[in-house]
Amino acid sequence: AAFENAGKHGWRAAPLVPGAMVTTPAANVANPADRRQIVGQWQPADAGAVEKALQNAVAAQPAWDRTPAASRATILEYAADLLQARMPGFMALCVKEAGKTIPDSVAEVREAVDFLRYYAAQARASFGAPEKLPGPTGESNELQLHGRGVFVCISPWNFPLAIFLGQVGAALAAGNSVIAKPAEQTNLIGHAAVKLLHEAGVPENVLQFVPGDGAIVGAALTRDPRVAGVAFTGSTDTARAINRALAGRESGPIATLIAETGGQNAFIADSSALPEQLVKDAIGSAFTSAGQRCSAARVLFVQDDIADKVMTMLAGAMDELRIGDPALLSTDVGPVIDDDALKILEDHAARMAAEARLIRQAPTSEAASHGSFFAPRAWELQSLDQLHREVFGPALHVIRWKAEQLDQVIDAINATGYGLTLGVHSRIDETIERIAARVKVGNVYVNRNQIGAVVGVQPFGGQGLSGTGPKAGGPHYLPRFATEKTVT
Ligand code: ADP
Repeated sequence: AAFENAGKHGWRAAPLVPGAMVTTPAANVANPADRRQIVGQWQPADAGAVEKALQNAVAAQPAWDRTPAASRATILEYAADLLQARMPGFMALCVKEAGKTIPDSVAEVREAVDFLRYYAAQARASFGAPEKLPGPTGESNELQLHGRGVFVCISPWNFPLAIFLGQVGAALAAGNSVIAKPAEQTNLIGHAAVKLLHEAGVPENVLQFVPGDGAIVGAALTRDPRVAGVAFTGSTDTARAINRALAGRESGPIATLIAETGGQNAFIADSSALPEQLVKDAIGSAFTSAGQRCSAARVLFVQDDIADKVMTMLAGAMDELRIGDPALLSTDVGPVIDDDALKILEDHAARMAAEARLIRQAPTSEAASHGSFFAPRAWELQSLDQLHREVFGPALHVIRWKAEQLDQVIDAINATGYGLTLGVHSRIDETIERIAARVKVGNVYVNRNQIGAVVGVQPFGGQGLSGTGPKAGGPHYLPRFATEKTVT
């Protein structure tokens, strides 16, 4: 019902989203919750379209960089206003194309609005009024910020609007021209977002939508010497591939790469934790957005003297989860993004069946039979070594630890090499401080769930295999899209 209502305010099956020069066949976009339902179509950009986009971007960038930062900011703020006003339509698209639940779709649009406003305000403040530096011999001297040139933004499907517009908004605010390459799974949302920015006043050659397969279109863009920087969010392997592509260029600028990648996020609970709160937060952290958040908890380390109680309560709570149509307000967990993601999770479940104890598999409804649904599961493991790589979906793993093993637990978490989020549940201050000080992650969440980021307040991003930083939605992100010039 909620979805039908949203549809009245703007959603309709999207028309073909073209990638220009149309020699490649159009692909259907199926609703992940019901593969029989075609949401729209899209067409990948071919080599000619990629070349044309690069030429356009090079030609358009200087004038955009000379446009006063305040004017760029005004356009982005107007785009934020438009997005806010059209929230129901964008929410509906998030539900239909990305399988997001209604609350997740609300959060998605709000975060995108916040990113646009945050980078616009920052550009107005720091690009519009160059910093005055003391002159070497009393001369006037100022530090200016400019766009680097052509920025390529390669984004993921799990936050198809918020991460997409965060990257694009920052790159534009800083004075770059932008080629936006959304994930293959969420082209309709990316296209709608680009159209919105054009409507708000971003010139069409300053922001171009170039959809396509990552290994073809993404790779072609990142090895091109005309590209000055890449903002990327996705898997660690792809970040390495982009790094190689940029490093392999024989000419062009030494490019900047801003990469936010995966995680193998843990939650540490000691015996002073409140079990009810712990279970509520573990469920929220592991299964919200069908576990498809970079920040999602995958491993719960729980001290042995409360472990049995916590696992019993976890199983009970999982029985209550409602898996199904994300367009219904009663749904807790929607589908995963596509059948490829589902297959990886099913393979993981098959391996876990041989190696681990199943704590609980949440029930699925009849409604789930036509979509890419994976029933949320929790297993008990003996050690973190049993998880070889990032698992992306509603899968939680529980490991017991003994009081004297806290440092070993922290070392094991650090040894994964990932460093995105960590949750701590404890009511002992020394334990909280010890864990927070030693763990190598970007975001630590204490006595709460471990998902969520608030633009400008609680910026998000990791270290190690989880990314280059700086944190999205934090004060150091926008400057990475810029180059500095002193005028003395
Ligand atoms: P996921 O596993 O979440 O799908 P990916 O890293 O494969 O993550 O995808 C994230 C984004 O990176 C997508 O937009 C995808 O098209 C793009 N991509 C994938 N491979 C490459 C590549 N070799 N070069 C550039 N971009 C790529």
